[in-house]
Amino acid sequence: MGDGKCVRIRGDKWLPDSQASRVVSPQKNFPNNTRVCALIDEERGRWLEDRVREEFLPHEAEAIINLPLSNLGTKDKLIWSATSNGCYSTKSAYHLLSMEAVVSEPGPSNPNAHNQFWRQLWSLNVSNKIRHFLWRASNDSLPTKKNLQKRNILPESTCERSGDNTEDTIHALWGCPMVKGTWWELEQCRAFSWEKFKCFRDLLQGVFAQNNSRMAELFAYIGWSIWHNRNARKFGTVTMPMEMIYTDAVQRLQEFHSAQDSPLPQEAAPHPTHWLPPPPGFYKINYDGATFQDLASAGLGVVARDSDGRVIAALSERIFLPTVQPLKPWKL
Ligand SMILES: [Zn+2]
Repeated sequence: MGDGKCVRIRGDKWLPDSQASRVVSPQKNFPNNTRVCALIDEERGRWLEDRVREEFLPHEAEAIINLPLSNLGTKDKLIWSATSNGCYSTKSAYHLLSMEAVVSEPGPSNPNAHNQFWRQLWSLNVSNKIRHFLWRASNDSLPTKKNLQKRNILPESTCERSGDNTEDTIHALWGCPMVKGTWWELEQCRAFSWEKFKCFRDLLQGVFAQNNSRMAELFAYIGWSIWHNRNARKFGTVTMPMEMIYTDAVQRLQEFHSAQDSPLPQEAAPHPTHWLPPPPGFYKINYDGATFQDLASAGLGVVARDSDGRVIAALSERIFLPTVQPLKPWKL
């Protein structure tokens, strides 16, 4: 964005989002044809953050505030948002289109496609632990620093591995420079390894769109290992060197598949071992907890979902770490 004088707030495509580059927030304070410069503090070359937050829905306000402003009073220029340098490339266009094919078909207004994503996730042929991890990452419910900060458990959210970025789910698992080398080893990931994704779910949708089940399975194992490794490092337990993650993931996937191939000594249990939605008209409630020894606190999370697997209510709370009192022996 340059000086914002040529671009209309409503009607022009100026937001960096490939899905919704036009403003969708309902009109509030600005009449038709108001230019984007009305949102810019020209002298300081900054967005008028309060004004932006007042006028737009939170996700749009966030996108706008994060749009870099040129402070030299330059003219606006519409650029290609699918590459980091703003220049069009066939590869990025191809990728954007293949992502869009998946994303536009879903979208929040199309519950079938929304459900299809979750079906693909749950039907991935990986262990339950890995599926559960993917589900949490796609729901943005992993205890990343950003999520802990949102819940007032941590005072800040800077990534401890790369130092100067907010550690949200997509950063921890994909965007962090410290994990790029690991993803590079998965050959099918190379074509889009520098692509930026809004959230982990978008990334996973892109992976599913490749229609390569082995790649998706490996992706899942590697993602899990990256997260596991990040935690082990954080809590000072033994960590696997990053360069081992890929080989280890290949091996563990192989082990999982060969365990499946060998016949089970007994009939498989009839109970489902992964999350299944409740019947229509019912809600299912799941809960989870985590302790943070160094902060002497614990986090509780509860999520209620309907028969489509949609989250209808969620709660998370921070409590003081429960302590175990030794029981006094009873005198009989
Ligand atoms: Zn980082």
